[in-house]
Amino acid sequence: MKRCSISVNGIVQGVGFRPFVVINAKNNDLTGFVFNHDSGVEIEVQGEQKNIEHFLIAIKHPPPLAKITTISYDKIKPLVDEDDFKVKESVNNNGYTQLPADSAICDACLNDLFNPSTRFYHYPFVSCTHCGPRLSTTIRLPYDRDKTTFSPFKLCRDCLADYNDIKDRRYHAQTIACLQCGPKLSHKVIEIAQKIKQGEIVALKGLSGFHFVVDALNTDAIKRLRELKNRDYKPFALMALNTNSIKQHAYVNDKEKQCLSSIERPIVLLDKKQHILPELIAPGLNQLGFMLPYTPLHYLLFYYLTNNPTDNWLKEPNINILIMTSSNYTNEDMIINENHPHLTEVADTIVWHDRVITLGIDDSVIRAKNTKTILLRRGRGFTPHPI
Ligand SMILES: [Zn+2]
Ligand SMILES: [Zn+2]
Repeated sequence: MKRCSISVNGIVQGVGFRPFVVINAKNNDLTGFVFNHDSGVEIEVQGEQKNIEHFLIAIKHPPPLAKITTISYDKIKPLVDEDDFKVKESVNNNGYTQLPADSAICDACLNDLFNPSTRFYHYPFVSCTHCGPRLSTTIRLPYDRDKTTFSPFKLCRDCLADYNDIKDRRYHAQTIACLQCGPKLSHKVIEIAQKIKQGEIVALKGLSGFHFVVDALNTDAIKRLRELKNRDYKPFALMALNTNSIKQHAYVNDKEKQCLSSIERPIVLLDKKQHILPELIAPGLNQLGFMLPYTPLHYLLFYYLTNNPTDNWLKEPNINILIMTSSNYTNEDMIINENHPHLTEVADTIVWHDRVITLGIDDSVIRAKNTKTILLRRGRGFTPHPI
């Protein structure tokens, strides 16, 4: 019988790392524990030497959002009365760890969002250990629900069951929430879609700040947005449902497609194809900045903007294109509060939700030509942690 203490550093909190450790420890018949502290994750395992070795190899291949920078381990004295592997309470030791950036909705949650048999059906804030808000919801470390802005939302029975079920992908997911127990939106998504179709300027509270949203095919609405925002020429960013929709308006090569679909979901600058979209979006420029939806709310918005969505609507080219521009004044911080006066100055409707954003983060901007990718603006998805 051997025992080993292991310290792991990097982006290892808020990424499903502890459940991943528990599953691997149990698969290898190891006892011990894992816990978060504010400079990383600490593990102790006990069992046969070869099982500990297998475990050490397995944890070097962590869940998708995790990024390990260092793993160090020491042999320690085995314990006599231990018969299980447990998640222990987090410890605050005033250290330093890295938090993952906010991540775009994962494919599994997107399936839940449009699956009528789950309780997450059409719920605008569905997330799991592999996706959703992180940086913009964390108040302090270690990353636990009571130190995030999800803490006021008490888990319902079903969410609590998932949270405690090690086989569930929402095991210890601090942002777990459903229609019954989670954050709520101020308006019905169908109403927001109608307002946009009618040419309104909608201020929309998203993952890490407010955007102004306008129908990109409505010249009058864009003109009004330019006047109210006092912005003569600066190009507006666009959001389309998928790359097939973007291809109606811009050229998209493989590298650009990969960047557009990445979990960081940056704005990608693309060469303009045809002049279907109003020139007023990016006056005098031969490029357009496109991004894909990255929150459940964005997908729901496209769902309600689409007339009679087919079974395959998520993949098919979609006629709706939205201007999705940050609501802040140029060179100022992202607006995260629904009472900010600039929102009423510009928007006809302000749509907000009751999950507090701790840190406003703007969309990132990328140019991806051939093999080279240039990050022109570091923002959401790429932000190193400031906590
Ligand atoms: Zn997910
Ligand atoms: Zn719930």
